[in-house]
Amino acid sequence: MKTFEELGVASPILKAIQELGYESPMPVQEEVIPFLLGEDNDVIALAQTGTGKTAAYGLPILQKINVSDYHPQALVLCPTRELCLQIADDLNDYSKYIDNLKVLPVYGGSSIESQIKTLKRGVHIVVATPGRLLDLMNRKTVDLSGVKNVILDEADEMLNMGFTDSINAILAEVPASRNMLLFSATMPQGIAGITRKYMKNPKEIVIGVKNEGNKNIRNVYYMVHARDKYLALKRIVDYYPNIYGIVFCRTRKETQEIADKLIQDGYNADSLHGELSQAQRDYVMQKFRVKNLQLLVATDVAARGLDVDNLTHVIHYGLPDDVESYTHRSGRTGRAGKTGISIAICHIKEKGKIREIERILNKKFEKGEMPSGKAICEKQLFNLVDQIEKVKVNEEEISPLMPSIFRKLEWLDKEDIIKRMVSLEFNRLLDYYRDADEIEIVDDVYQLR
Ligand code: AMP
Repeated sequence: MKTFEELGVASPILKAIQELGYESPMPVQEEVIPFLLGEDNDVIALAQTGTGKTAAYGLPILQKINVSDYHPQALVLCPTRELCLQIADDLNDYSKYIDNLKVLPVYGGSSIESQIKTLKRGVHIVVATPGRLLDLMNRKTVDLSGVKNVILDEADEMLNMGFTDSINAILAEVPASRNMLLFSATMPQGIAGITRKYMKNPKEIVIGVKNEGNKNIRNVYYMVHARDKYLALKRIVDYYPNIYGIVFCRTRKETQEIADKLIQDGYNADSLHGELSQAQRDYVMQKFRVKNLQLLVATDVAARGLDVDNLTHVIHYGLPDDVESYTHRSGRTGRAGKTGISIAICHIKEKGKIREIERILNKKFEKGEMPSGKAICEKQLFNLVDQIEKVKVNEEEISPLMPSIFRKLEWLDKEDIIKRMVSLEFNRLLDYYRDADEIEIVDDVYQLR
């Protein structure tokens, strides 16, 4: 396998991607980077999100920019605002050490005036959704005559969204001498039309492997008001009486607070974070490993040292900042062919993060229904009955005690005894849920693309 350096990536970009933790090129990068660094090279790549395609085209186009010329030299077209912002962010990250390089995201729904102002000051790369770019072109505020590289990202999606005419109108304004790169997850008919019309002898690349996340993991999210997050956590945990999982928190303080609350509320929980001594951490980890602890509340960093990955559930008490952490956390469940559940308890402000994770994993989240108090009580009750049925009786140890126990309970009939036994565990929940308000799931008008 080649290194980024061997592919021809220049040193300021190498430095930036090293900081991002990109150690070696992904397959699509290995194929596309050297090719795009050359001249007159068109590419059609069948590659999905999560394959590393942004860097595959991003690094070479950044490298080819002449920073002293403040005209758009590269144009990236993509279907949605979210993707547009994501690409622009990535390009900014990659060009951290190239002084004065300007990337402008252009998309509908944001102020066109400020986009025009920035264009006037001069930009090198425009990342745009087709509709808004066409609008700017019609106002004569964007000059595409110096564009040397055009990228169509998620081309199939753009066609699905009805952007074919806009794309044609935009490409007509770009000099014919440019390189063109088209990325698409599928190759519908319309794409063939575009490639025939605008591309010269394109190299075709098919990239199969993508970061799909684990197929055995169900990703579920519950969107609640920030004030209800802890209550929601309790409900979810109550709804899965046999849960064996990690609750990931964002800070040490939050980790400790949540663990303390859970312990106070009678759960078999403990905390793991960097403020504990090594001995304390070892003790908690061991307890969790041997399943003497049902719920471990932990920070990402502290949980790294824990070699447990056969969890039934991973709970994100708030989503992490980056998708890698999400995948890393969730990868601790759904192992060995079993289905694991990765549950995000989040508030409305985290909606964008869910979309981003969905996009990168190319997998949709299920919207969780908050279990009602009644449903939880029922589930717990049946779990208890199940345990009674399955418990292993140690005849030898218990038989000497049984005569006195029978004598004591003689006055109760079988039905009474069962009721009492079950109530012993059940009352705690019943008391709690009898008066508990139902938790409102925030109606987030959440629409998937
Ligand atoms: P993309 O397909 O461009 O959305 O990229 C998917 C994810 O892979 C993003 O989170 C990138 O930051 C990450 N990524 C891209 N290239 C590399 C690399 N060579 N090494 C590690 N991670 C990468």
